[in-house]
Amino acid sequence: MASGSALIFDEEMSRYKLLWKDPVCEIEVPERLTVSYEALKTHGVTQRCKQLPVRQATEQEILLAHSPVSKSFVFILVRNIWSTATSISIREVRNGMALVRPPGHHSQRSAANGFCVFNNVAIAALHATKNYNLKRVLIVDWDIHHGQGVQYCFEEDPSVLYFSWHRYENQTFWPNLPESDYTSVGKGKGCGFNINLPWNKVGMTNSDYLAAFFHVLLPVAYEFDPELVLVSAGFDSAIGDPEGEMCAIPEIFAHLTQLLMPLAAGKMCVVLEGGYNLTSLAQSVCQTVQTLLGDPAPRLSGLTAACESALESIQNVRNAQSSYWSCFKHLG
Ligand SMILES: [Zn+2]
Repeated sequence: MASGSALIFDEEMSRYKLLWKDPVCEIEVPERLTVSYEALKTHGVTQRCKQLPVRQATEQEILLAHSPVSKSFVFILVRNIWSTATSISIREVRNGMALVRPPGHHSQRSAANGFCVFNNVAIAALHATKNYNLKRVLIVDWDIHHGQGVQYCFEEDPSVLYFSWHRYENQTFWPNLPESDYTSVGKGKGCGFNINLPWNKVGMTNSDYLAAFFHVLLPVAYEFDPELVLVSAGFDSAIGDPEGEMCAIPEIFAHLTQLLMPLAAGKMCVVLEGGYNLTSLAQSVCQTVQTLLGDPAPRLSGLTAACESALESIQNVRNAQSSYWSCFKHLG
């Protein structure tokens, strides 16, 4: 049985900047990676991980989730992009984290979107289902934005279960899409395999995040019984982030990681998405990788009931999914 944790990092990925002129792109800086990696080194974490070599994604791998048009477009726009999600070998190690940038979950088949060029996690899921013949892959997107690119890629596909929580504020927060709401449950054969949990208020806490896991994600994830778990790990959902404006502390990611580890016999790939407060980001990355290595999650104090807005969203998702999952059948 595979053991150990991989860490994917290549300095090459901290050498470029996005060329989009939009000032909102200014927060997607190379320091996001270097600060995270330095924090892992300082805590003695890098030495405990297996550092897998990075390679450039092949054209064939990129075309799994993107059209040829978009591929040539982005090669002109941004050179030196390395997609490493596919280089996590699920055969060599039990789990791992890929420190990559820019993020990927907004990227669509023929369009770059919201800092995202290649959809790393979508490519990884398609790679796993096509080349390793996996029948069930779970994608957990704890980034504070909706990964609509991932949703579009898999909404008709029952082999990939996509769960995303995201700041929504009744569609007033970017990307302002009606399809980011809890009512989008997937299409056709994919009904029930798309789960959106909208946060309609900012300031969500550890208690709200845990409630979402306990009452929505985990019951469904156990019933789905994935063979691989991929995490779209955006840490803009942590305290201090200018995008998320949430209040959950970095230690929560140790718990979220640990709660997912019993699934898929421990096979889990965590892939960095957003996270723009460098302090909060680096701490959250450390918490996540230390947990992957088997360290116990630190104690959380001050847990309370989830707030009313969170409970309302959780209840709405459970009701919307009740015809697809037996764990929610009693609600239907
Ligand atoms: Zn984000």
